[in-house]
Amino acid sequence: MQATAIAEAVNQGRTRAVEVVRAALDRIEAEDKEINAFISLNPRALDDARAVDERVQSGETLPLAGVPLAVKDNLAVKGLAATAGSRILENFEPPYTATAVARLVAAGAVVVGKTNLDEFGMGSSTEYSAYGPTKNPRDPSRVPGGSSGGSAAAVAAGMVPLALGSDTGGSIRQPAAFTGVLGFKPTYGLVSRYGLIAYASSLDTVGPLAGSVRDLALALALMAGPDPLDATSIQKAPGLWPLKPAPAGAKLGHAPALVERADPGVRSAFAEFLKGLKDAGYELVELELEPLMHALPAYYLVATSEASSNLARYDGTLYGRRVAGADLVDTMKKTRAQGFGPEVKRRVLMGTFALSSGYYEAYYERALRLRRKIAAALAEAFRSVEALLLPTAPTPAFKLGERLEDPLSMYLSDLYTVAANLAGIPALSLPVGTAGGLPVGAQLLGPALADGRLLGLAAGIEERGLLWRPG
Ligand code: GLN
Repeated sequence: MQATAIAEAVNQGRTRAVEVVRAALDRIEAEDKEINAFISLNPRALDDARAVDERVQSGETLPLAGVPLAVKDNLAVKGLAATAGSRILENFEPPYTATAVARLVAAGAVVVGKTNLDEFGMGSSTEYSAYGPTKNPRDPSRVPGGSSGGSAAAVAAGMVPLALGSDTGGSIRQPAAFTGVLGFKPTYGLVSRYGLIAYASSLDTVGPLAGSVRDLALALALMAGPDPLDATSIQKAPGLWPLKPAPAGAKLGHAPALVERADPGVRSAFAEFLKGLKDAGYELVELELEPLMHALPAYYLVATSEASSNLARYDGTLYGRRVAGADLVDTMKKTRAQGFGPEVKRRVLMGTFALSSGYYEAYYERALRLRRKIAAALAEAFRSVEALLLPTAPTPAFKLGERLEDPLSMYLSDLYTVAANLAGIPALSLPVGTAGGLPVGAQLLGPALADGRLLGLAAGIEERGLLWRPG
């Protein structure tokens, strides 16, 4: 059931939040032994649901009344552990709640648990988690994508209608595509990052995963807007709610030279989708977008550089795990050696190298120049098209273990998603078809602060029956 439908039923007294949340917990209990979407559950979920019922009974109408919500475990929820998928934050309990979560809870959502992720958001398969991999509910021999793989799997398996993820380079959209659900990465700054455990601060965003455009739009509208606790938070984008499905006919750009880099199954599902759009009356325009060819190396330099700085705080003195050594330096070394997993160590090493004197200009500064070129190329494209279409990922969900020993092939999963983060623009992933029986996603990208317009466009596409729905 969709979030908007649940809230309506609870507000009208046709069901109670406590019934809805109990059903979600039962479903998790039945399914999650195999899937491992959750790292922890909220032991007070039923009490929280009862509190929502009381608010509704006292006459309040809540836009998310009784909606079970899954929260990625790099977002703080007071009273629950926030591990970020890392050993180093095992048992860490933040003393406050992330603004994005707090706003959904104020609207009646009930946090049922915290979902699995690649450690600190670094990965594309949810296999780099200290709490075991998550499996893809559409095919448990495959990964759900990452790093918000737990959130995507929880929605895809019908455990919850709505989940929160974070997207630094594709971590909401790529798992949404791999599991056949929808995921939205907002304009940078539109949703507060307060309470999000930092990975790469100039790229990090918080956004929703759900089963319909309507649910995404409602969640985004409730979360968006300025927050004094996040200095980079910006005004609310116009037209987020109510959602207005756009009529067909919009001018949409696509980039054949980029699509060529996808595998054949994805290419043909994407081509089918474009054909469906054309038949429905959309105007398709071919674009070059050459700078996007270099988005991946630019991203991996910026992201690792920022990560190496952000992760310096985990030294055994203030947060989480501490492994005592002979002296302070030895304690820090041992804490980090035992607390971080191999991918996080690789990222810290790469980032430290890219920022080191003598290499800073050659790597970090060049990456920043590329970043500006990519943003400029996209801004230029949006002068002639309303939105841009790209596959979400170059392949469908791959097998568990397949890319674990090969970091470069793992990084290639992010080929099409990182440009939106580098440019700070909104992008959403829609399920549009299948390849070899596995879901394939396509992205819609729009200019900064056009989040509402993008969702309206997506809703129009959804209304025309152009999205893939599991049978
Ligand atoms: N897969 C990308 C990375 O590992 C993106 C992760 C993310 O968006 N958090 O950096």
